[in-house]
Amino acid sequence: RAKDEGGGVHCEYEPSLHATAEEKRQLEFSLRTALENDEMMLHFQPVVDAKTEEVVSFEALARWNSKVHGFVSPAKFIPIAEDTRLIVPIGTWVMNEACREAATNWPEHVKVNVNVSPEQLLEPDFAGTVVRALSHSGLSANRLEIEVTESIFMRDAGVVRKALEQCLALGCSVALDDFGTGYSSLGYLRKLEFTTIKVDRMFVQGAAQDSPESLAIIRAVVAMADSLGMTTTAEGVENQEEADLIRRLGCTKIQGYHFGRPMPAADARKIFSRGALKSA
Ligand code: C2E
Ligand code: MG
Ligand code: MG
Ligand code: MG
Repeated sequence: RAKDEGGGVHCEYEPSLHATAEEKRQLEFSLRTALENDEMMLHFQPVVDAKTEEVVSFEALARWNSKVHGFVSPAKFIPIAEDTRLIVPIGTWVMNEACREAATNWPEHVKVNVNVSPEQLLEPDFAGTVVRALSHSGLSANRLEIEVTESIFMRDAGVVRKALEQCLALGCSVALDDFGTGYSSLGYLRKLEFTTIKVDRMFVQGAAQDSPESLAIIRAVVAMADSLGMTTTAEGVENQEEADLIRRLGCTKIQGYHFGRPMPAADARKIFSRGALKSA
């Protein structure tokens, strides 16, 4: 198509675009059988209380180890899964698996965070999927936090809002993920009683590098969350300096490599038997 536009300038981009499309097509083909071939697994990343540094939750993160393509990053396969709606069965599997792991192997005060895509919320019975995951696993609703991004508001807002309100009514929490990276509008915060705002890693890194804008944004988000009765989680905290800064800025919870990378379920369980995370 670049050639049709006549500019020789565009031509050089064509081969790489083509490769990407072909790669996507192959990934999509393999993704269709990933669940039945047992290629999907979950990793879990700790979320700690900013003050006590105790683990209060784990975020479930999908991992795909394809027999054909090897390990494929979620940054690559989640968008493909969303485009093809394969995210619906994959997301249901994630929900069930995450709830089962939390209910079976974790202390009762530890929650589980599950990422949910807009396509899942547009399904007629998303809340039913949640109810079934809770009842099959025996997890109480207040131990499940659903993570959504601002992109949900680009879709049929009525359907999405109803689905999330049903989850809140069940007793689940709802977090607004990657806050500040999308088409941020403060109006979104009025559309739903989010439990938590997750401040994107971009601002955490910025603040750590003395960016006055990032500092001001985190301060403002924390103040706003406080007055709206929401908690805040800082994402992507990678070292002690960042953890101290985030604590001073008043975020409620912290997540990032400094406190633990995403890890297999068996390793996450060891954290409880060992006690304190930092001695891990
Ligand atoms: P997310 O929900 O914002 O998850 C956090 C991502 O940040 C994870 O990437 C995690 O590994 C990474 N991360 C955490 N701490 C740090 C840190 O200190 N430094 C750096 N550099 N990175 C950190 P991951 O696992 O590659 O997942 C990427 C995204 O894919 C997730 O972003 C989420 O949007 C999506 N995703 C993953 N699993 C699922 C799923 O089951 N369902 C859906 N719908 N989306 C998923
Ligand atoms: Mg998330
Ligand atoms: Mg996030
Ligand atoms: Mg993020």
